[in-house]
Amino acid sequence: MTKGLIIVISAPSGAGKTTIYRELLSRMPGAVFSVSVTTRKSRKGEVDGRDYFFISEKKFRRMVSGGQLAEWARVHGHYYGTPKKQLRDAVSSGRDIVLDIDVQGGRKIRKQYLSGVFIFILPPSLKALEHRLRNRGQDDEQTIRVRLENARKEISYITDYDYLVINDKLNEAVEQARSIITAEHARISRLKNEISGFKKAQAGNA
Ligand code: ADP
Ligand code: 5GP
Repeated sequence: MTKGLIIVISAPSGAGKTTIYRELLSRMPGAVFSVSVTTRKSRKGEVDGRDYFFISEKKFRRMVSGGQLAEWARVHGHYYGTPKKQLRDAVSSGRDIVLDIDVQGGRKIRKQYLSGVFIFILPPSLKALEHRLRNRGQDDEQTIRVRLENARKEISYITDYDYLVINDKLNEAVEQARSIITAEHARISRLKNEISGFKKAQAGNA
């Protein structure tokens, strides 16, 4: 059985990361989403255990000190973290797992999981980003300004990532992300077992 891939997706807020990973997961049967823990309040329509595990700061601190998080960070004023167990379970059962985390988290995961796949998503322009944030209708003016300001900083982390997907036409962006994942599965360096199986069979036939 091949191991599942750890796929990290990061993007400035409003670039379309949530839209893309949801669509991506619907086209990747068997793949799972890494449900983060967060101390922020749930938004309308979000489901505890599906979108996030919404927990108190006290519980968050306990998870950090208990070594239960693969990474954690403070983002836009709240704490977020990736539970280690979900990553372990997915990889060992051969399932791909998609992490929607910020650039600080991406950098920490990269140090621990060298075989991870790191994808950065950008909108076609900063104007388009602003437009999407406003159209989403989820944030007030001050929050939008903070997110746009943060976007400029986040973009400077692009070189930590392996791939860049520009989310202009949604379907094309999702297909591009899926192609990246398909190609990563075909990497020779990930297929040591399969290759040694071929070599043995070849030796047996010789
Ligand atoms: P993020 O998770 O990166 O903050 P969202 O997935 O919430 O971003 O997308 C932000 C807004 O932009 C949403 O209203 C979404 O419907 C819209 N959106 C996403 N992708 C596109 C696209 N390719 N073209 C136009 N609008 C998009
Ligand atoms: P939101 O509150 O809009 O859902 O997410 C805000 C930001 O937090 C996004 O950039 C998202 O990728 C990031 N985020 C969500 N979960 C995690 C996590 O577990 N770790 C880190 N480092 N960032 C996360």
